[in-house]
Amino acid sequence: MSTSADKKKLFIGGEWQEANAYYDLKSPYSGKVIAQVPLAEKEAVLKGIEYAEQAAKEMKKLTALERSKILERVAELFEKRLEECALILAKENAKPLKAARGEIARTIETYKFAAEEAKRIHGETIPMDAAKNGKGRFAFTKREPLGIIAAITPFNFPFNLVAHKLGPAIAAGNSVILKPASQTPLSALITAEIFEEAGLPKGALNVVIGKGSVIGDILITDPRIKMVTFTGSVEVGLGIKAKSGLKKVTLELGSNSAVIVDSVNDIDAVVSRCVEGSFAFAGQVCISVQRIYVNENIFDEFLQKFVEKTKQLKIGDPEAESTDLSALINQKEAERVEKWIDEARKAGTEIVCGGSRDGAVLMPTIIKNAEPTQAISCQEAFAPIVSINSYQTWDEALDLVNDSEYGLQAGVYTTCVQKAFDAVERLEVGGVIVNDIPSFRVDQMPYGGVKNSGTGREGVKYSVEEMTELKLAVFTL
Ligand code: NAP
Repeated sequence: MSTSADKKKLFIGGEWQEANAYYDLKSPYSGKVIAQVPLAEKEAVLKGIEYAEQAAKEMKKLTALERSKILERVAELFEKRLEECALILAKENAKPLKAARGEIARTIETYKFAAEEAKRIHGETIPMDAAKNGKGRFAFTKREPLGIIAAITPFNFPFNLVAHKLGPAIAAGNSVILKPASQTPLSALITAEIFEEAGLPKGALNVVIGKGSVIGDILITDPRIKMVTFTGSVEVGLGIKAKSGLKKVTLELGSNSAVIVDSVNDIDAVVSRCVEGSFAFAGQVCISVQRIYVNENIFDEFLQKFVEKTKQLKIGDPEAESTDLSALINQKEAERVEKWIDEARKAGTEIVCGGSRDGAVLMPTIIKNAEPTQAISCQEAFAPIVSINSYQTWDEALDLVNDSEYGLQAGVYTTCVQKAFDAVERLEVGGVIVNDIPSFRVDQMPYGGVKNSGTGREGVKYSVEEMTELKLAVFTL
C-alpha cells in the first residue's frame, strides 16, 4: 500500500518510494490540503525508465492469458474500491459524486475490455502468390509489444483516461511510465496499488509525479521509450510531437464540440441531453457541448426549455450526493472564462443565464447567438458555458460546425435520414453522433480527432494497434 492517510509515495520499480520534495495537494472546491504528494526528480524518472526497460522483457514473455488475468483482476479490485475511488475524485478533482461513480464504472469496463482484447491480438497471413515474384512464399504478420510506453494524462478523467492507456498497454505486453496531472495524482497512485495487488510484474508500471513542464521532456526524449501516449491540451501536445523524434505518438487533444439540432420528435429529451452535455463535470470534458446550432423554426422553444432545465442544476460541494456541478479545477481557469463572458457582454452579445463566478465556481452560462469570432465560439472553453445559435439552412449549420480549428466529435439531431448521412459525409470530425450529443462515448469505440483535436485513436482495440509493432515473417517454401 502506498502510505498512511496523507503522505504519499512514488511507485517505481514495484516499490513505494519516498521523494526529496513534496507538495501540498489541495481540493479545488474546499481549498483544504488533502495529501502531501512526492515530486519525482530527474533521477527518480530515470530509475523508473530503467525498471520499465527490465520489466518490458518480462512483460513480453507473459502469455495472452496471463496478461488478460491481471487486467481482469484489476477490474475486480476497482469494483471493490468503487466508493473509495469516487471519493478521491470528488476530493482531488471536484467531480460530483454522481459523476465520479460513473467514471469508476467506466474505468472498470475499460479494464474489462482490455482483459478481453489481450486475448485477441493477432496478425494475418498474406497472399504472397498474388505478386509475380511471390510464388513459393508463405508470409504472416504478428503484433509485438513496443517496449516502454510513456503515458501523460490530464486531470479531467484521471481514472478512466489512465485506464485507456494502461489497459491496452498491458494487454499488448508493454511496460509503462505514467505521469498523471499534478492536480490528480491520488487516482494514479490508487491505480498503481490495484495493479500491484493484481500481480503485475514489478517495474511494469511506474508512477512519476511532477510538473509536466519539468519532467515531461525526460520521458519525451529518452530513446528507451518507444511511444508517448498523451491526452491533454493542444499546446502541450504540439510540444510533445515536436520533441519526440521517431517515437510513436498518440495525441488526444481538445475541442469546442458542436451539435446541430435540426429536427426532433421529442424536444424535451433533446434539451435534457444537451444540458447534460454542456454542463457535466462543469464542462471540463474534451467532448463537452460548447456550441449548439438550432434550426430557427424551433430555436425559441429550445432556448427557453434549455434555460429552464439549466436553472434546475444543483451547484455546490462535490461530496454532496445531490450536486450536479462544482468548482473548476482551479480559480485561474474560472477567471479565464469569466473574461470571455465579459468580452461577449461588452460586444453586445446576450448572456441569457449565469455569467457570474464565486471563487473557482463558475455558474452554468448560456450565451445567445455568439459571433463565430468570439472566444466562446472558436476556442476551447473547458468550463460550464455554451453558446446557442440559430441557423436558417442546413448547409449553413454544417459550415458553422466545421468553422473550427478542432474536430473531435459532433452531434446531429435530425429526423431526416438523408441529412444524417450528409452530416457523416461532410462534418470534419473524428466521430459523428447522430441523434445524440457529441459527448457520447463508450470505451471500446474508436475515439480521437482530426485538425487540432489530435492524431491517433483510442478505444481499447485501436490503442492496442497503436501500442504494438507489426512484424512480418516470410517463408521460402
Ligand atoms: P494539460 O495542461 O495539457 O496537461 C495534460 C498533462 O500534460 C498533465 O499531466 C500535465 O502535467 C502534462 N504536461 C504539461 N506540460 C507538459 C510538458 N511541457 N511536457 C510534458 N507534459 C506536460 O491538460 P489538462 O489541463 O490536464 O487537461 C485539459 C485538456 O485535455 C483539454 O484541452 C482537454 O480537451 C484535453 N482532453 C482531451 C481528451 C481527449 O481524449 N481528446 C480527453 C480529456 C482531456 P501537469 O499537470 O504537471 O502540468
